[in-house]
Amino acid sequence: MTIFVTGGAGFIGSNFILDWLGQSGEPVVNIDNLTYAGNLQSLSSIENHPGYHFVQTDIANQNTISQLLIQHRPRAIINFAAESHVDRSIHGPASFIQTNVLGTFSLLECVRDYWNTLAGTDKSNFRFLHISTDEVYGSLLPEEPAFTESSCYRPNSPYSASKAASDHLVRAWHHTYGLPVLTTNCGNNYGPRQFPEKLIPLVILNALAGMPLPIYGDGLQIRDWLYVGDHCAAIATVLDKGIPGQTYNIGGGNEKTNLDVVQAICDVLDEIRPRAGGQSYHRQIAFVADRPGHDRRYAINGTKIAQELGWHPQETFTTGLQKTIQWYLNNSDWVQGVQNGSYRDWMALHYGHH
Ligand code: NAD
Repeated sequence: MTIFVTGGAGFIGSNFILDWLGQSGEPVVNIDNLTYAGNLQSLSSIENHPGYHFVQTDIANQNTISQLLIQHRPRAIINFAAESHVDRSIHGPASFIQTNVLGTFSLLECVRDYWNTLAGTDKSNFRFLHISTDEVYGSLLPEEPAFTESSCYRPNSPYSASKAASDHLVRAWHHTYGLPVLTTNCGNNYGPRQFPEKLIPLVILNALAGMPLPIYGDGLQIRDWLYVGDHCAAIATVLDKGIPGQTYNIGGGNEKTNLDVVQAICDVLDEIRPRAGGQSYHRQIAFVADRPGHDRRYAINGTKIAQELGWHPQETFTTGLQKTIQWYLNNSDWVQGVQNGSYRDWMALHYGHH
């Protein structure tokens, strides 16, 4: 048996592939077109693993995707491929519509054709697992209950609107064509191998470089933080036990303001990497103009996945953050490759890609 992972060179996809090959040994085909967010250096440790196969293509490339499906006959597809950064979606929404909406549509069509060629248990056991976000539910007031799977869709940014659209397509391909789909909606992930445009790695690396630690607006926006290893375990659980047509919210149970998060990073760094002069990292915190349309609060109610599938996060925010900071301290080659852009040269050297 084989599974396909799209977007496997990104943050969550690369963590998922590493965990998957470490735990199950079932072969993985990683399909990624290597945007700025795709970094094969994150997967260098499994480059020669017999169960790992990389193909550089766009999820919207129907010819190649259809050929790969016929060639490898996967039992499941996990769709991580997306444009994922809210700020980028504000400045240039087109690529978000292209990949998240049209790309998902195109992929669903290829998968539907392939699935229709299957028979018996190959057909009934097949799964298309779509990875999505809690941002599709919009913003919560402080007193409102956390998002459940039946919360209304109220996306506010071009990113969340494009993800919401993709969730609707996935749902419709189940109800209309019977495709056995699963959708997961999770909170903000953090952990190793995250591109440093996102809050936690940005703050860790800016802190170490003596640069300002930017906080949007008053810093009191609340997010529900999920350690990426916990997310990957939840995805494997949903793939294994989830009911086709259902969606599952995945939360870490860690509602934190952005200011809390930045201060927690400063606390850990003050302890494990104190500055020579004894000056605290907290002094680098700098408030900057808020993001337009910035959602105030996201929070996940994770009761369904806990009760129905028995999944619970293993990390607290404190343990997950310590692991994350330690990873960035221990992996300066990866960090430098991303910061000076040489991760793209590395890919050209190893894979002949540009
Ligand atoms: P990422 O930006 O780090 O990685 C995305 C990957 O997809 C990259 O490797 C990129 O090259 C690839 N990709 C982009 N467009 C593609 C296309 N057209 N064809 C093939 N590959 C393409 O993103 P991430 O943080 O790893 O997020 C993965 C998924 O999880 C996304 O669908 C995202 O919406 C969702 N998600 C992320 C978070 C989070 O906090 N990071 C939270 C909730 C949901």
